Amino acid sequence: MPTLTGGCLCGAVRYELGGKPHPVVNCHCSQCRRWHGHVGAYTEVPKGDFTLVEERGLRWFQSSERARRGFCAECGSSLFWDSLVKDQLGIAAGTLDSPTHLKTIAHIYVESAGDYYTIADGLPTLPGSDVGAEPRHVRARDVDPRGGGAAPGSTPWASAASSRARARALHRVARARLPRLDGVAGA
Ligand SMILES: [Zn+2]
Ligand SMILES: [Zn+2]
Repeated sequence: MPTLTGGCLCGAVRYELGGKPHPVVNCHCSQCRRWHGHVGAYTEVPKGDFTLVEERGLRWFQSSERARRGFCAECGSSLFWDSLVKDQLGIAAGTLDSPTHLKTIAHIYVESAGDYYTIADGLPTLPGSDVGAEPRHVRARDVDPRGGGAAPGSTPWASAASSRARARALHRVARARLPRLDGVAGA
């Protein structure tokens, strides 16, 4: 039985999440703001906890060396941020069915935030380190679920698996430059 369900505006993409989805982090990076039309609000799960139940509208756009983004080609909804270097899938929180029982815990990449709004909710803010860099959206955890991560053998993760080796070295470099959310971990 899924923990949460969700989908795009038209129903051509539907999914289920198992396990315990991560609290929501708001990403202010320029890529998220362009792709979503504003800030990207993401929960995250290990890929093994994600199941597509309707994918006829799903398309992928590789937005960087380290990630691709999934959207609905029929209605235009922005849904997924798929890391190509680790076993994590970001889910746009706005696509979840209510109630989610999730809480927003932090803002990341605030150095890349737009000048047309203010962040005033009192939540922790992290500057991010590279303007326009692809963030690892939900770094805010102590317990990395990779230990129990299921192999992403089925679609749509096959291409992610094939690029893993190439991406591993890049990931090591990127990791050192990306923001740490350890201060809010466990929130
Ligand atoms: Zn759709
Ligand atoms: Zn972002």
